[in-house]
Formats: sequence, C-alpha cells, structure tokens
Amino acid sequence: MSLKISRIVNGLQPSATLAMSAKAKELKAVGKTVYDLSVGEPDFKTPAHICAVAAAVMQLGRTHYTVASGLPELKKAVAESYQNQYGFEYSPSQIVIANGAKHAIHNSLTATLDPGDEVIIPAPYWVSYAELVKLTGAVPVVVQTEESNDFKIKPEQLAAAITPQTRMFLLCSPSNPTGCVYSPDELKTLAEIVVKNDLMVLSDEIYDQLIYSGVAFASFPTLLPDLHERTILINGVSKTYAMTGWRIGWSISPPDVAKKIGELQSQETSNPCSISQYAAIEALTGDQTCVAEMRAEFEKRRNYVQRRLAEIPDVTFPKIGGAFYAFFNIKPYLGRKYGGVTIDTSEQWCLELLTQKNVATVMGSSFGTEGYVRASFAANDTILENAFDRIRDFLVEAKS
Ligand code: PMP
Ligand code: GLU
Repeated sequence: MSLKISRIVNGLQPSATLAMSAKAKELKAVGKTVYDLSVGEPDFKTPAHICAVAAAVMQLGRTHYTVASGLPELKKAVAESYQNQYGFEYSPSQIVIANGAKHAIHNSLTATLDPGDEVIIPAPYWVSYAELVKLTGAVPVVVQTEESNDFKIKPEQLAAAITPQTRMFLLCSPSNPTGCVYSPDELKTLAEIVVKNDLMVLSDEIYDQLIYSGVAFASFPTLLPDLHERTILINGVSKTYAMTGWRIGWSISPPDVAKKIGELQSQETSNPCSISQYAAIEALTGDQTCVAEMRAEFEKRRNYVQRRLAEIPDVTFPKIGGAFYAFFNIKPYLGRKYGGVTIDTSEQWCLELLTQKNVATVMGSSFGTEGYVRASFAANDTILENAFDRIRDFLVEAKS
C-alpha cells in the first residue's frame, strides 16, 4: 500500500505563528529587511550563567538519558520555585518535565482525554490548543469572547457551553494572543463553575512571570482547595528565561495523573535533553535578576506599543496586562484597498502587510477570532518603531 495520511493528521492545521515566522525568515534569507512581530519568543540571549552551566555539564559528560519524566533535581527546583512564588507546595512526583510547554500540553491532553470528550476553549486562543485537542480525538468547543470584556470568558458563557460530554476547560492567563490577565476574583468565579460541573482544567501559565505593574495574578489551582485534584498546570523556561530553543516545559498534576503522563513520555520521546534540563535547574535556582530585567524591558515596550496603537484612528485593543502580545481590531479597515488590493480578512491583511511593508504579524483568524491581528513585542526598539510606523501607514493609506 502506498503511504497515506491519517484522518486526524490530515485535519490538522499547521502552527500559524510558526508559519508566519517562517515566511519572515524566508524574506530575510533573500536579503529583505523584515520587521518581525510574528513569533512570540523573547529576543534576549539566554542569560550567560545558564549557558555556562550547560557548557559545564557537557564537559562533565552529563549527556546521557535521564529519568524519562525528568531529572529529580529539576522537579525539585520546579516545586521550590512554586513554593517561593506562590507559597504553594507541590511534590516532585506531581511534575513531569517535557520538551517544552507545547509538548507538556500535548502529553497532558493525551493522558486525560478520550475521543468524543469536549474541551471548552475561549477564543481568541493560542494557535496550538484546538489542534492538540483534536489530535486526541476529543472535540474543541470554542467560546467566542468579546473585546469589550478584555477577551475574557464570562461565567455565564462558560456555564452555557457545558454539556454532558464536557470534560475540560482550557485556560490561558496571561493570554496569548491578547495579553489580558484574569483577576483572582474572575478566576475564582470560573473555578466555582468548574467544581460544580466536575470538570478538569488545563491552566497554561507560561507567562506568569510577565505580569506588568499594577496587575494582580493568581495561579489557578491555588484559588480553591478542590482545584488541585482537577487541574493540570503548564509552565516552562521558554518565556521567563529566554530559553525557547532549549525546549524545557512541564506539567504539574495530581501524582496518579503525573505518573501516567510520565509513562506516556517514556514511550514517546524518553527524557527531554539532559543538557537543557541542567540549564533549566540553573535558570530556576540561580540569580533571578535577569527575569526582573527582561520583564522591565517588556513593560517599557508594552507601554510604547499601546501608545503607538492608540494613535491610529479607529484601531482598538484591550489593555495589555501581561505576556508580550498586542491583539488589535482592524475591522473598520477591512473591505478597503491597500495599494490597489482589496483586503477582506485578517489573513489577507497580514500577508499584504508583509508583502507591501515588510512587517510580519499573525492573523486573528488563526487564534479563532477574525478581524484582529496579533503583534508580538518581543522585538527590539528599532524593529518596533519601524514596524508600527509601517502598520500605521498601511492602515491610514488604505482607501475605502
Ligand atoms: N503556551 C503558550 C500560551 C505559548 O504562547 C507558548 C509559546 N510557544 C507555549 C505554550 C509553548 O511554549 P514552549 O516553547 O515551552 O513549547
Ligand atoms: N508561543 C509562541 C507564539 O505564539 C511561539 C510559537 C509557537 O509555538 O506557536 O508565537
């Protein structure tokens, strides 16, 4: 039989963020200057003390398999970081170290969902959630949130989406792609609905160290005593320590679930890279000044980006409380002509912006919400200034 693609994989959308980033890289490779606000990854170098540990452990020969679910010392470091940060105690047996948070999400969904189970995902959502749910045979149930509510799901929306098949609620705060952060009270109200309806929760808190001044954040499972039993917490070193390429993330779940996630990983990939795991221990237990420095820089950029967007007539966006994304409304500008090309969708808008102005962004449609565009401000001042000059020009020069 000639090769065929499985039904599930055939139905899979490739990651739009990575696809836009690849397009920007292609243009750069042929010598074009591209102002790239597509992918969400810190533009800072991984701090030197972390890299030094990686180099040292390689010399020491710590380059072999580790326990499939991760080095015990790294699990301990993760547990201690939660103790320090939230005063909350997790046991290392609840932690599974994966090849990045994306992989931790994939493992967690695979370990807990059966075909036909429904997973409630508020939109706009990070591009991978719906696809990773579909890979398990479960069904993503997308609930559209409103800009007027800072793209946060309302309790009545969550309650209305629950059916007898609903198994899980998927939460991301601070949010990729909107930068919005649920308040502890908002989360508590959602948590009460979750408990009342006996749902599991996957809480992706990968941006928990990127919360800007005056914004309150709570880690979801700490809000009610009942939540630990039903929540899988996701985090990693990619965003906090500028370590996207090292591929270290983790899940924290009740010990019986964590055991199964670990067993799944033992068949799937074995352990994450040993060198990266040692580097992650240094990231979590070493000097934390780098985290505060990067956060301060991101906050400065957040202020700049909000100012630049606010200056463009008819463009609106919710206030950015965390992460490094702006999600702005271009609906008033759809249906107009840009350099002779009529643009009706956010996808066309992003592709034309890249072609005509050399600025890479990501269309709202790939996050489940049409009429918006995501710009990552994990980019330096020169890139941001040039990109927002061009975004402004592109919009204001469009003809009705
Ligand atoms: N969750 C969210 C919300 C993200 O934005 C990302 C970014 N890629 C991830 C998970 C995955 O991160 P990682 O690099 O650790 O796989
Ligand atoms: N999370 C980042 C983003 O949304 C990285 C790319 C990806 O993994 O999708 O751009």
